[in-house]
Amino acid sequence: MTDPDPIAALAAQLQELRGQLARYTGETGHLRARLEKDSSEVAMLRVEVKQSARKLKEEIAQLCAEAQREAQAEVREELERLGQKLDEAIGKRKADDPAAPYWLGLPQDERAVQLGDLREWVETVARVQWPAYLASLPPCWPAHGEAVWELGNLMTEWRRIYSDPDARPLPDALVYFDRWLPGVLGRLERALKCDASGCRLARPSRPWERPPPRYT
Ligand SMILES: [Zn+2]
Repeated sequence: MTDPDPIAALAAQLQELRGQLARYTGETGHLRARLEKDSSEVAMLRVEVKQSARKLKEEIAQLCAEAQREAQAEVREELERLGQKLDEAIGKRKADDPAAPYWLGLPQDERAVQLGDLREWVETVARVQWPAYLASLPPCWPAHGEAVWELGNLMTEWRRIYSDPDARPLPDALVYFDRWLPGVLGRLERALKCDASGCRLARPSRPWERPPPRYT
């Protein structure tokens, strides 16, 4: 048996390595070629994506503008509709608002009817519902212009607030009891000095105590 030649063994090993290297180099070249091809494809893709994104962006902007125009048109139409409704409501409210009772220049019979209506409301509604509030109102109030005008307003406002069972405005009712009713009753209490014993207007008075002529 002879010892193997170490130089020959090394040479063989070197040959083997050289082969491996060549194979690797070939594979690397192949890989590089593929990579380059892929890279160019990726670059192309990137360009395409960029273009698509730009196009999409433009389309979205266009859609947004259209939507905005449509929304504006819709809002404008809605506003116009609301404006019409508001005008109608104001017109209706004006038409529904009763006129303040007026007492000057009325023919005798019309005045009697109007006063009869007021008297009925005061005696059968106000005095019955709020007896304590009206305790200071003398029975001769229909003879006093102050009371006729003021109570006429109260009655009309009360009817406006309560006559429609489907629309009785609470804020108006609150103002009525907080302001209008006590305001009128307070003024009449201070102004009218008559009481249940009789009306001061009807008492015989001395000429210098006679009240000025009344325009009714
Ligand atoms: Zn009186």
